[in-house]
Amino acid sequence: VLSAEQIHKSFGEEDILRGVSMQVREGELVSIIGPSGCGKSTFLRCLNFLEIPDQGSVTVKDVHITRAGGAWSRADEHAAHKLRTRVGMVFQSFNLFPHLNVLDNVLLAPRVVKGERSATMRDEAMALLEKVGLAQVAMRYPVSLSGGQQQRAAIARALAMRPEIMLYDEPTSALDPIVAEEVLGVMRTLDNEGMTQIVVTHDMRFAQVASDTVVYMDGGLVVEAGPPEELCVNPVDDRTRRFLRTVL
Ligand code: ATP
Ligand code: MG
Repeated sequence: VLSAEQIHKSFGEEDILRGVSMQVREGELVSIIGPSGCGKSTFLRCLNFLEIPDQGSVTVKDVHITRAGGAWSRADEHAAHKLRTRVGMVFQSFNLFPHLNVLDNVLLAPRVVKGERSATMRDEAMALLEKVGLAQVAMRYPVSLSGGQQQRAAIARALAMRPEIMLYDEPTSALDPIVAEEVLGVMRTLDNEGMTQIVVTHDMRFAQVASDTVVYMDGGLVVEAGPPEELCVNPVDDRTRRFLRTVL
């Protein structure tokens, strides 16, 4: 459902991504792990063109974008826009709109895209809030919510666009373990419903227990990838082994 081929990205002189490829199957939950600064967030941002790769291609369902060094054209931007409607993203810092209540946060994107306010949209948004356990706080403003509630609201907001794939960049890093568990629970529920999810995480327990595939990145490259029972237990590469020794 998603394929990234040979993604390269530099900032100035620094090669941050040096040819990252990844295939993700429908319904798969992929955790990306690796040392700070190795390019995990940059790669995730390249997948939905929040960051435009210098080289490489990204395919999500029927949308295919290839970069070969040329200028970013209007046709590319059009394709990227289409791709972004299929990919939801959740950040470490929640990024809710502070001046909107939870329900309006969830409704904003569908309203802008469809240009209407319908009772059906509202019902769908309420159903999403129900799913993430926030129906009771739908009318409250983000500032009055716990971090875990804010993050679940951010997930509901991303789901409101009915994405095919969800991307998460350290969704629980700003949360204490108990509250983080509520967020991870929502991700597990989505997994059970067949959502495709890619998660950059420092939470090795989640990576081990919940993922179908763990990807270890280092130095702007995928060093190795595999099911957690292989990669986390019997890593092939020395760098993976060393990293796991420090975090497990
Ligand atoms: P962490 O685990 O700390 O979040 P990461 O693996 O997500 O790390 P990235 O955020 O992708 O790492 O950053 C990789 C490198 O790219 C870092 O050295 C960072 O300083 C650099 N970098 C990222 N974004 C930019 C930018 N917009 N301009 C310049 N340098 C950047
Ligand atoms: Mg990061």
